Amino acid sequence: MRPFKYDRAKKSNDATKMVASNKNAKFLAGGTNIVDLMKENVERPDALVDVNNLELKQIKSMGSNISIGALAKNKDTANHPLIKQNFPLLTQAILSGASAQIRNMATNGGNLNQRTRCVYFYDTATPCNKREPGTGCGAAEGLNRMHAIFGYSDKCVATHPSDMCIALAALDAVVHVEDEKGNKRKILFGAYHRLPGDTPEKDNNLKHGELITSIEIPKNKFANNSYYLKVRDRASYAFALVSVATGLEIKNGIIRKSRIAMGGVAHKPWRAMIAEKELIGKKPSQKLFERAAKMEMERAKPLEHNKYKVTLGERAIVRALKMASA
Ligand SMILES: Cc1cc2nc3c(=O)[nH]c(=O)nc-3n(C[C@H](O)[C@H](O)[C@H](O)COP(=O)(O)OP(=O)(O)OC[C@H]3O[C@@H](n4cnc5c(N)ncnc54)[C@H](O)[C@@H]3O)c2cc1C
Ligand code: SF4
Repeated sequence: MRPFKYDRAKKSNDATKMVASNKNAKFLAGGTNIVDLMKENVERPDALVDVNNLELKQIKSMGSNISIGALAKNKDTANHPLIKQNFPLLTQAILSGASAQIRNMATNGGNLNQRTRCVYFYDTATPCNKREPGTGCGAAEGLNRMHAIFGYSDKCVATHPSDMCIALAALDAVVHVEDEKGNKRKILFGAYHRLPGDTPEKDNNLKHGELITSIEIPKNKFANNSYYLKVRDRASYAFALVSVATGLEIKNGIIRKSRIAMGGVAHKPWRAMIAEKELIGKKPSQKLFERAAKMEMERAKPLEHNKYKVTLGERAIVRALKMASA
């Protein structure tokens, strides 16, 4: 491992100032991703600013919405009564990720900013535009079984790895961030992560030095009819091949509102807007779910080794909707 400077911030503003003043500095939260990446020589920050002492761990009601602190642990978020009661979809998604030990360490802010699990990104002997811009993409013509079927570019075909973020995308969350001057801004979840385009090295729209302070989730009526389905190679310690987070608001037997977000299919959580729209004003049924899923997945453009994801995605949408509407 390369030498690096370590600082522990006492206030948010100290943390943002320290990171903003050094383009090679990064925040350290639970460390479950950044430290692995440093050990593998994939990321090479020369300074880490530990944010674990900041007062950003609260989970609380904020008017009609609920705010979860960026430094609350994934475990505490998933098991918090406010989350279990209002957003069981988020609890399910978090608990389907990683392992109990990792969820004990991992924070919500770190979860949003965890990096892709593309094997070429981790293998410093291979080209990767995300790790070293301009070197090429090892996965585009390589083993791309785990890679994207929507929204990729010729520069990068990686997928976003988080489970939690797929639920947050379906729940229309808002990310609160703060910079070194104390300026605060809110980013709609759909605009937080990016598609790769020509700059796959950028996973999200945070500016260097901006700190996630909390994630706000608007109250909704999906709690009784929501479901997170994760399909993976093994039952634990595996990232999604395809996942589906869905929430339905059903009144008098008719779907009034619907949310469907997919993981494992794109560089960012993928909102299945075509399928969502198709469900509105209709009675839940197998036929309806099959039609909506087909319409969404027709737009997929699979790579050489991941054609299976189109069928898998279609079936996963149908199954998640059936579970949610049951
Ligand atoms: C073996 C293994 C299996 C896993 N399986 C899954 C899985 O199935 N599903 C899943 O979703 N995840 C999985 N994970 C990933 C895990 O969820 C993430 O590593 C974790 O959520 C990252 O959180 P952290 O607090 O440890 O972040 P860190 O490692 O501390 O930081 C990650 C990144 O976020 C930045 N950062 C941290 N906090 C902030 C903040 N407040 N503001 C701005 N930037 C910030 C850091 O600078 C860094 O770039 C797995 C991890 C491992 C090691
Ligand atoms: S898919 Fe993206 S992360 Fe993977 S090798 Fe290509 S550029 Fe790198």
